[in-house]
Amino acid sequence: APAPPPARHLFSDPAEVDALRGNLLAWYDRCKRDLPWRALAATEPDADRRGYAVWVSEIMLQQTQVATVIDYYNRWMQKWPTLQALAQASLEEVNELWAGLGYYSRGKRLQEAARKVVSEFAGQMPRTAEDLQKLLPGVGRYTAGAIASISYGQATGVVDGNVIRVLCRLRCIGADSSSPAVIDRLWHMANVLVDRSRPGDFNQALMELGATVCVPKAPLCGECPVKQHCQAWRRVSLGPAAIVPLVFAGVGDCSLCPPATEPWDSSLGVTNFPRKAAKKPPRAMRTATCVLERRGCHGAPEYLIVQRPSSGLLAGLWEFPSLLLAHGLQEKKEREVLTDHLQAWMGWPVAAKGLRFIGEVIHIFSHIHQTYVVYSLPLDGDVTLDPASSPSRWVTEEEFHASAVSTAMKKVLR
Ligand code: SF4
Repeated sequence: APAPPPARHLFSDPAEVDALRGNLLAWYDRCKRDLPWRALAATEPDADRRGYAVWVSEIMLQQTQVATVIDYYNRWMQKWPTLQALAQASLEEVNELWAGLGYYSRGKRLQEAARKVVSEFAGQMPRTAEDLQKLLPGVGRYTAGAIASISYGQATGVVDGNVIRVLCRLRCIGADSSSPAVIDRLWHMANVLVDRSRPGDFNQALMELGATVCVPKAPLCGECPVKQHCQAWRRVSLGPAAIVPLVFAGVGDCSLCPPATEPWDSSLGVTNFPRKAAKKPPRAMRTATCVLERRGCHGAPEYLIVQRPSSGLLAGLWEFPSLLLAHGLQEKKEREVLTDHLQAWMGWPVAAKGLRFIGEVIHIFSHIHQTYVVYSLPLDGDVTLDPASSPSRWVTEEEFHASAVSTAMKKVLR
């Protein structure tokens, strides 16, 4: 068996663990933000409804700021207050409500999982983190732990980006925080630390600390309720000899310390932790998109939108007719291929000259740097579309904004 990590990386003193839990929970009781899903989880007597409310909030909060999520969450719970209601919704309705929140597959999978709970488990949510992760599509280890601890009181830890940062600082973990060895160690720590009588509050408190105090760039260590347990803070305020044990590593073979090639940097203070491997740059893609416009019956402009395939990026969402471009095409060639595409799709000739170049819109997806090359094409009358091609419809500007369209397409229209 591998040797246990050095004491500075562990929570091995039960008295310290108790004190840390008490300090963190007392701070949470005093300072926590009022958030709609917290209120619901604290007051809802029905366990399945509690589980559902926490589940929706956790899926929405993945990769999205709390301030953005609140409005989406409230509208979602108003429209589908129960799992049963969500199970009966169409994907189109889910996409419409999700529009603008990004990472659209999250909404789709949430709805698929709700259908599964209703059809296979008679509407009863699995009650443990292990079962939630095993049985529900789209529910990973973190989400399962959050639902089980917050809704059902299971004493199980959680590890998300905020928890990674806090734990790495508390225990001076400077190895790549996305490596399996470090992630394993952090899960172990989270499970050791979680308060047995208030697991849901404890997990939320740890995440809240990361979101509001132990923030990435300028942590507020002076206000931190657990600074006396924080090895990084001790290292900064009392010097290297203050951390446990007395010698600060940075060399040697400890798999949790910063690598010898990138030792402690005094100018960074506690933000020496966590360390991450360099991110891969996003893939560059170029897409030609054409806003086809006609006058509607009251003279207001109408735009043609088409539906994307039901799988892959932005599955099932609506967009202006678009075409992925090969790398390195000249502007003239881009215009020609877009013209051919529109022509094949509409079934009548389109003059490349008629396309008006509007500009470029950049949108960053998680792993893609997308450039939309935007053209417009005003039409005199209607167009007959090939019914075998993707579903399409004409919409007013208002209808466009109410449709399941991505933020990128809203930028294109603007
Ligand atoms: Fe984070 Fe500073 Fe608190 Fe340590 S003392 S946990 S670095 S805010």
